[in-house]
Amino acid sequence: MATPVQQEPLFIIMLGAPGAGKGTQARMLSEALNLPQISSGDFFRENLKNATPLGLLAKQYMDTGALVPDDVTIAMVMDRLTRPDCANGAILDGFPRTLPQADALDKSLAAKNLQVQRVALLEVSDEAVISRLAGRRVCRDCQAMYQVEFNPPKVEGVCDVCGGQLYQRSDDAPETVRNRLFVYYKQTAPLVGYYFAHSVLVNIDGEQPMEKVRADLLAAIRAA
Ligand code: ADP
Ligand code: ADP
Ligand code: ZN
Repeated sequence: MATPVQQEPLFIIMLGAPGAGKGTQARMLSEALNLPQISSGDFFRENLKNATPLGLLAKQYMDTGALVPDDVTIAMVMDRLTRPDCANGAILDGFPRTLPQADALDKSLAAKNLQVQRVALLEVSDEAVISRLAGRRVCRDCQAMYQVEFNPPKVEGVCDVCGGQLYQRSDDAPETVRNRLFVYYKQTAPLVGYYFAHSVLVNIDGEQPMEKVRADLLAAIRAA
């Protein structure tokens, strides 16, 4: 009997401005590749919902669109990556967002002889980001993502997947979105050069319809 080929664990990072489609695509990839989706933003929101000390700390930053400090963010994600379901890899959505976070991730993977295989940069214009986030709606129960214009639910305000109630994130208010975009350019955009230099960056046209973005992403990952 042929021995199955042991695939190297696959760590994929979704990079892009707020609203670029990271969460939407990470969720699709997670299902297609059967890997966990690790979303730092979802962790912080979950902690906030449960009023944990981490959630209350994160809130002070999230409310204005600033980044939560590196030390707590790094500790939280590194801890998550040690869980058994990450043995075959993971889809990282919203992490890393700063150079120290990227360095910490590289070091932690390298210590286990692992590495980031692909960083998908979802490229979307600033105008598209602003209009997408104004109409973003999220399911309270399963975190499925909708857009009132481009990807509406079948019944207004109700999740197609689980019937949960949809809500608008308070940091999707227009003034906060502008600040998040500013923070992206100031603190996260340098990661584009960082990962290009590591030869793992793939540029994806994120302004295409979701299904086309998904197909391009899968092709880029399979070519890894
Ligand atoms: P979006 O998907 O719109 O880019 P996220 O849900 O990823 O937003 O993040 C929401 C907020 O959570 C950010 O504005 C920031 O305050 C915090 N956050 C999420 N990920 C990180 C991270 N890697 N480092 C620091 N702060 C983060
Ligand atoms: P991010 O995680 O990068 O902040 P999301 O995945 O939450 O981005 O997407 C932001 C908003 O844009 C959501 O309302 C989502 O439904 C919508 N969206 C995602 N991908 C597309 C696309 N390709 N075209 C149009 N709207 C999209
Ligand atoms: Zn739902």
